[in-house]
Amino acid sequence: MIEISQALKIIKRETKPLGLESVRLDKSVGRILAEDIFADSDMPPFDRSQMDGYAMKAKDTRTAPVDLRLVGESAAGRGWHNKLKDSETIRIMTGARVPDGADSIQKIELTSESGDVVTIDEATTKGKYIVRRGAEIKIGKRLFQTGELIDERMIASLAAFGYPNVKVSAAPRVSILGTGSEIVPVDEQPGDDQIRNSNSVMLKAMCEQVGATANVLPQSGDDLRKLKRVISKAVGPKSKIPNPKSQILIITGGVSVGKYDLTKAVLSELGAEIYFQKVRLRPGKPAVFARLNDTLIFGLPGNPVSAAVTFYLFVRNAILLMQNATNTKLRSGFAVLASDAKAAKERDTYLPASLESDPSGKLIASPLRWHGSSDFVGFARANILVALKRGQIIPAGDVVPILFL
Ligand code: AMP
Ligand code: MG
Repeated sequence: MIEISQALKIIKRETKPLGLESVRLDKSVGRILAEDIFADSDMPPFDRSQMDGYAMKAKDTRTAPVDLRLVGESAAGRGWHNKLKDSETIRIMTGARVPDGADSIQKIELTSESGDVVTIDEATTKGKYIVRRGAEIKIGKRLFQTGELIDERMIASLAAFGYPNVKVSAAPRVSILGTGSEIVPVDEQPGDDQIRNSNSVMLKAMCEQVGATANVLPQSGDDLRKLKRVISKAVGPKSKIPNPKSQILIITGGVSVGKYDLTKAVLSELGAEIYFQKVRLRPGKPAVFARLNDTLIFGLPGNPVSAAVTFYLFVRNAILLMQNATNTKLRSGFAVLASDAKAAKERDTYLPASLESDPSGKLIASPLRWHGSSDFVGFARANILVALKRGQIIPAGDVVPILFL
């Protein structure tokens, strides 16, 4: 049995970064940047009005109400490219260029227009309702860095600064195999003694969240020959130029000590190198990590919550390492425990929990009331894992480390 930290070291040692590719911006969320992103212009690129109203010199409004002479209009996309003189004003719209000579905007609600005269009801001040050129970002500024995961809030910046395509790390190809003779595909009605294969599609979704492409392999039950065939096919032959069909193969189930737990036996028979097969972790002790040809293989426990936790700790890490991501581990933090929590005696323990803030501003971690590591319905409500060291018994009210899911 090895420590989690040791397992992570081995995974890091065996995981090599993949190449780059260019993807369309609208397909880039969840991918890892493979280039630094720079502003190709000031933002805003010109002095910009924040209001619909009138542009003027603030000094002309000191004795408001005052009448100013209307000499033009600046609309968004169609600016007024002259110089505003004393006692003059132009109509201006939100997002439009503020002309030279003007130093303030008065909003339309505090004005009235009649013929070529505009009455300004209240005095303005210099700079009022103007966002100066470059106030948000200066040209040349580095906005995002290689290794960052692209999220949906970054897309507007990439679009605004001229990245219709963006360089990202190549997507790891992951194949997912559910073992177990009791498992039927999700679109089939389970018969007696059967359940649906919920793990494979769950893991596919988890892989895709972190930039991988994932495909679910045909089920092979607990049948040694079938398992061998499906695994060999997913791995592909050994070749001089490492370009396996799947860079990662995730197998769930069949990793513990039951009569029909065949995963490790199959991997050995196929000649895989097994790096670890027991981790001081709950849930997830029987997690396996191996290599066959150029494919990394994770054997995760069949229990859905154990499969999820070991995915988050190990497989997710490998997928992000392959993409040269800067942050390859779950984000960590601290919260106050809502109820007593207990770790396994000999294994570091990750308790699925939900995180809320209370009215005093404290973050409260409530470990789920659940039925153990088969309870995927309970787990669906978890948004953190409470991280406990082996043997710890922590009373409600204490602060504990957490990992964000
Ligand atoms: P195993 O790790 O094969 O001993 O399986 C442990 C438990 O997880 C058993 O109750 C299995 O029926 C269940 N299980 C295994 N594979 C899956 C799967 N793909 N989807 C849902 N449950 C599974
Ligand atoms: Mg099984």
